[in-house]
Amino acid sequence: PGILYIIATPIGNLEDITYRAVRILGEVDLVAAEDTRHTRKLLSRYGITKPLTSYFDHNKSLKGEYLLTRLHDGQSVALVTDAGTPCISDPGYQLVRDAVSEGILVVPVPGPSAFVAALSAAGLPTDAFVFEGFLPTRGKRRLEKLANLKGEQRVVIFYEAPGRLQAALADMREVLGDRHVVVARELTKIHEEFVRGRVSFVAEHFAAVDVKGEVVILVAPAPAPATPGEGELKDLLRHYLRRSD
Ligand code: SAM
Repeated sequence: PGILYIIATPIGNLEDITYRAVRILGEVDLVAAEDTRHTRKLLSRYGITKPLTSYFDHNKSLKGEYLLTRLHDGQSVALVTDAGTPCISDPGYQLVRDAVSEGILVVPVPGPSAFVAALSAAGLPTDAFVFEGFLPTRGKRRLEKLANLKGEQRVVIFYEAPGRLQAALADMREVLGDRHVVVARELTKIHEEFVRGRVSFVAEHFAAVDVKGEVVILVAPAPAPATPGEGELKDLLRHYLRRSD
């Protein structure tokens, strides 16, 4: 069978593509893209003309089968999305899963992903973090999701659509309190901006300007729970020892 390449493409700045990605896009038999018009522009910038086919959320089952057939026929396929790394809050997972289970070689071609770019320059701890993708769009489910993350000791990263930034920040303020957050906007583009501060400050900042462009929201870890002092520890120990009698 052919090889399935999972290729990262720019998240804004068209220079953010690797030499290897460009070479492989020029070598494969077929490019599967989320939006073929969008990807055609990228390819033409690098002088690549390739057959393109669409692979997106609503045709992924049928199109996935078609792509697997092509792979079994010995053709190589590159999967790309409109921005960043396929499968990361983007289509691709089902195709990769099925290719793996059918014994097809899947090769990642790494490059940009918005959450990594945001985290790398946010100034928040980077040793451990949680990537949550998009928050639920419905209010109640969003509040529940945030409530579950309230005590999280790692940085939590969300993707958000610009039109929902204020609602997300308002819910964060309500559920998490006035936590330190970082909003990374328009990464790699002309209006790239990092806004760092308490939720209230960041919300106010974005209320004053008409927010355009995509954003990543990073939430600082919850304050560590107070560690019990020695006296309290003895009390706890006594309590548990009594209970086990
Ligand atoms: N696959 C992509 C990746 O690897 O980052 C993510 C695709 S997801 C459909 C789109 C979301 O990613 C946006 O709503 C935003 O949260 C984030 N994003 C993508 N490009 C961005 C950019 N240039 N600046 C800030 N956030 C971006």
